[in-house]
This record gives sequence, structure tokens and C-alpha cells, in this order.
Amino acid sequence: MKIKAINGVKDILSDEIVYWQKIEKTARDIFRRFGINEIRLPILEKTELFARSIGEATDIVEKEMYTFVDKGITMRPEITASLLRAYVEHGLQVRQPIQRLFSIGPVFRHERPQKGRQRQFHQVDVEVIGAQEPQVDAELMAMGQMLLNELNLDVSLEINSLGCPECRPDFRKKLIAYLHERHDSLCDDCKRRIEKNPLRVLDCKQQGCRAMVQEAPSIVDNLCSACEEHFAAVRKQLDRLEVSYTLNRFMVRGLDYYNRTTFEFLTTDLGAQAAVAAGGRYDGLVEQLGGPKNTPGIGFAMGMERLCLLMQQQEGQQEEQGGADIFIAALGEQAIAFAAPFVHQLRKLGLQAAMDYSNRSLKAQMKQAGRLKAGFTLIIGEQELEQGRGILRNMDTQEQNEFSLQEGAAMLAEVIAPDKA
Ligand code: ATP
Ligand code: MG
Repeated sequence: MKIKAINGVKDILSDEIVYWQKIEKTARDIFRRFGINEIRLPILEKTELFARSIGEATDIVEKEMYTFVDKGITMRPEITASLLRAYVEHGLQVRQPIQRLFSIGPVFRHERPQKGRQRQFHQVDVEVIGAQEPQVDAELMAMGQMLLNELNLDVSLEINSLGCPECRPDFRKKLIAYLHERHDSLCDDCKRRIEKNPLRVLDCKQQGCRAMVQEAPSIVDNLCSACEEHFAAVRKQLDRLEVSYTLNRFMVRGLDYYNRTTFEFLTTDLGAQAAVAAGGRYDGLVEQLGGPKNTPGIGFAMGMERLCLLMQQQEGQQEEQGGADIFIAALGEQAIAFAAPFVHQLRKLGLQAAMDYSNRSLKAQMKQAGRLKAGFTLIIGEQELEQGRGILRNMDTQEQNEFSLQEGAAMLAEVIAPDKA
């Protein structure tokens, strides 16, 4: 019986890996420009970490976590909580009061698998801890946009403010009152949410709830003056940085720790899986996890699967694995014996060199060279070997020249790939 991968997880095969590598390379380069350093974190954490940060009454904690119940351990459903746990545990603020960190890796959520929605997926996560200025919010969104632009992706940015512990309770009451009046037209989930997590109703995807939300009170219209000022400054700074955005007054995030600025980068090309990146401010979360008082923070996470899908889908994005610099077609035992150390030398010199040990026909080996997208092939038969020469074929132009084997690997590298040798 064949054993298959479990539902909702995926192998990433080599024709797709080029997209992954491009995302990581571009992200790392952008993070360097913005002075954001890497941190690597464990996948397993205490369950309590997520219950306390993401919130008990959220979909993630209520029904999506992979938890080893008997051990109190959970496979991380997101990276922010782990990163803050590490920040607090190592007292990172002592080394540098403002920490700018990123982490890349898998996260796990038990959701219904579909295109762009998996049970093991990958995030590029960025966090700036210790700064509360609105300029930081705008800088981070501008960075996200720069990254998506450099990946040639066409996405839009939506922003909102979720207020703070000053203004949210009043708003919450207002919203609960509004929802109670329309209790009957809500879906069953939202009926339950009214008391537990009313803001989530604003985010419900059901038609009935959506229609009702249009008229609902919105948090941005009910901010306290400090939050209003902060949000106005964020918007002003976005304008200065020439980042275009739209205000989505009903955007709420599925995690409880967010306050003030929240944002999402969206696409219309992935059906219901519209968000390619999302994040926001979480002032107070560090303290809640046992860290220093009044530590502000903001961050976002990009979904790598969705980025890959978009890159493949949005026009003109065809990433291909680079080909070999050279393939040595060795014919006969002696030629193979000669070619192996020659290939090894070429690799030492930095070239991608390949050969085949199975002494197949010239035709078969040329086919192999084609499959490897080799730029050149060096053909060495028994007779050529005796005469100390090979035939060097440019696979693009089909041009063939003799190459004297005594000249060695370094000379060959010089001829075929002067930039690498
Ligand atoms: P969604 O609204 O699509 O469920 P989310 O708000 O749950 O997204 P976040 O928790 O903010 O997502 O995670 C950040 C990013 O991770 C998302 O914007 C998305 O690109 C990606 N993501 C979230 N869940 C999945 C999943 N199950 N499979 C693949 N990517 C995902
Ligand atoms: Mg979700």
C-alpha cells in the first residue's frame, strides 16, 4: 500500500522551489535594507502561549490548533507569539531597545484545505518591538508593499484601526447592542460571537451577516483621541511614503492581541483566499506575556503558499531553475575515469558541472545534457581521450570546437563561464 501525505500538507517539488527561493531571497534582501535581523524559533511551544496571546475565543485557539493534549504543547499556528516569547525570555530589549526581527518557517492550523489554504503552511513574519510611533506602522506597510512590488505582485493594501483598551470597551457595547437588535439575521456562529467576540461578526463571510455589517457602527468612528491621532498620523505618513491604501472600517483580525493599526495586503486572484499578508499593532502583548510594561509592537506575516500561487498566476512570472554550465559526455570506461576528477575540479572552481557514469550512448547523454539545460557539452570519446582533446559544443549555437584536455579545468571554466571562474 502506498503511503500518501496527510490531507492539507504539501510537498514542494523542484519546479516550484524556484518561487520559494525567490520570495526568500527578495525578503532577506529587503529586510537587510530595513535593518531587520533574522531569528529562528521552535515550532513547538506551550499551548498556553497561544491561548494567552491569540485569545481563547478565537477560531485559531478554539478549533484550529494541533495540540498534544497530554503534554500541553502546541505546534505553532503563527509566529508572532513565539517571537515575543523569545523576546521576553532573552530580555532582548536590554541589548537594543527597539528590536526589528524576522522569521521564516512553517505554521499549522487545522482548517478545511483548499487552494491557498493548507494545514501546514509557511509564513514570512516580521516584528518591530519597542516602538510606538505611527511612522513605524507606515514604514512597515511601505516595506511590505516594496517586497510585494519586487516580487512583481499586484496587490492592494487595506488598513483600519481597532482602537485600544481605552476606547474599545465602549465601542464593544455599542456593537453588541446593535447586534442584539439584529440577532435573528445573524448566522449561528455570529449569534454565539455576540457576547464572546462581537468584533468577529464584522469579519463574517456569510451573506446575511455581511449585509448587516454595512450599517454597523465601526471602530474607526469610535476611537479615543489618542488612537484617532495615532491613526491620522499613520495615514499621513503612508501618503508621504507614497503608499496607496484604502480604509476598510470593518476589518478586524482573527487574533485578539491586535490594537490600533491593522492592515492586510489583498489580491482578487485567489478566490476566497484574498489575504496574502496581514498584521497590525499589538501594544501591551509583550507585557501580557510577562515582559516589560508598556512595550509596544507591530508586525505582519505573509503567507508563502499564496505568494507562490500568485507569482505563478499573475502574468509574466515564469521562474526556472538555472541550468548546468557544462555537461561532460564521457564515452567508454577510460573517458569516464578521466572525466570524473575533471568535473570535480570544475565544481571546485564554482561551476555547475555534470556527467553520467553509466556509459550510455552519445545520443542518450546529449539528451541528458538537454534536460539539465547545459550551456555547453564536452564530448570525450575513447579516441579523443587518446589524442588528449575533447569536443566542446555550445548548446545554444550548436557551434563545436576542439578543446585540448591538457589545458585543464581552469582553462575550460575560463572559456565557458568567465564570470564564474
Ligand atoms: P485568512 O483570512 O485567509 O484565514 P488569516 O487572517 O487567518 O487569513 P493570518 O493569521 O493573518 O491569516 O496569517 C497571515 C497570512 O498567512 C495570511 O494573510 C495568509 O496569507 C496566510 N495564511 C493564513 N492561513 C493560511 C492557510 N491555512 N494556508 C495558507 N496560508 C494561510
Ligand atoms: Mg484564518
